[in-house]
Amino acid sequence: MPTASLLAIGNELLNGVVRDANLFALSQYLTQMGFSVDYAAMVRDDPTKIAHGLLFLLAQQPDVLLCSGGLGPTEDDLTLSALAEALQLPLALNSTAADLVENHYDRLLTQHYLTQRGPTFARIKMAMLPLGATPLPNPVGTAPGVKLEHQGTVIYVLPGVPAELEAIFAASIAPELLHRFNPGTWAEHTLLVHCDDEADLAIPLRDVARRHPDVYLKSLAKPFPAASVEGLQVIAGALASTAAEAHAAAQATLDDLRRTAEAAGLSVGEIHASTD
Ligand code: ATP
Ligand code: MG
Repeated sequence: MPTASLLAIGNELLNGVVRDANLFALSQYLTQMGFSVDYAAMVRDDPTKIAHGLLFLLAQQPDVLLCSGGLGPTEDDLTLSALAEALQLPLALNSTAADLVENHYDRLLTQHYLTQRGPTFARIKMAMLPLGATPLPNPVGTAPGVKLEHQGTVIYVLPGVPAELEAIFAASIAPELLHRFNPGTWAEHTLLVHCDDEADLAIPLRDVARRHPDVYLKSLAKPFPAASVEGLQVIAGALASTAAEAHAAAQATLDDLRRTAEAAGLSVGEIHASTD
C-alpha cells in the first residue's frame, strides 16, 4: 500500500482560530484512493518549524508528502522558502509559475473582479520555486501549487484556502497519484451496534478482525448512553483492485460482525455503504 504524510502550516490552526479542513479532506481523499496516511502534523508559520516538520515527515520516507498553506504573496507565507532551505535548494523564478500567476490576473481583470494586477513583488514571490520544482495550475486562485521529487518522495505543496487546495488536488494530483501508484479502490461500509459499553463489543470485533485480516475494522467510540440509544458506528474499510471486490470484502466483514454481535446478545442495525 503506498503511504502518504501530511503537513498543515498556519498559526491560525494552532491558535485555535481556524479549524483544520485540509488535513481532514486530504486524509479522506487519499484513504479512499488506497493510500495509507501514516503521519500528519501542524506547524506554525515559522521557517525553522516548517523546515523541521518537513524533515521529520520526509525522514519517514512516505511515497507522497502533501503540505497546505503559506503559498500566498504575504510576509507570513514562508512554505516554499522553508522547503528550499530544508532541502538545501536555491529558490529561482519559475517562468511557468510566473505565467500561471499572470494568466490568473488576466482572467480577474477581464472578468472585472480587479482593476489592476497585484504588486510585482507579490507576483514574483508566488513564482519563486525551489530549483527543480514544477508548478501546478490553480483553477480557482492565484498561487500555483508546487510539486517536487525528493529521494523517493513526491512532495506537493498546496495553498491553504480549502477550495484552492481541493481544486488543485482534483485537477492535477489525484489523476497523477492514481496513474503513478495505482493504489486500488477503497470502500467503506458501516454498521450500528447498540451496546451499553464499547467493551461489550471488544471480543466480537477482535474475532471478526482476525477472520478478515485485510479489512480495516474500527468502532467509533461514544459515551454512555449514546452508545446504547443511537448505537456505536463500526466501520469496515477495504482496499482492492476493483470497487466491487473492495465493497464485497467490507460487506462480508460486517455481515460476519452482525452475526457475531447478535450471537453475543447485542442488537445491530443495517449495513450501509459509506463510499461508492
Ligand atoms: P493565500 O494565497 O490565500 O495567502 P496561502 O497558501 O498563503 O493562501 P494561508 O495564507 O496559509 O494560505 O491560508 C489562507 C486561508 O486558508 C486562511 O484563511 C487560512 O485560515 C485558511 N487555511 C489555511 N490552512 C487551512 C487548513 N488546514 N484548514 C482550513 N483552512 C485553512
Ligand atoms: Mg497566505
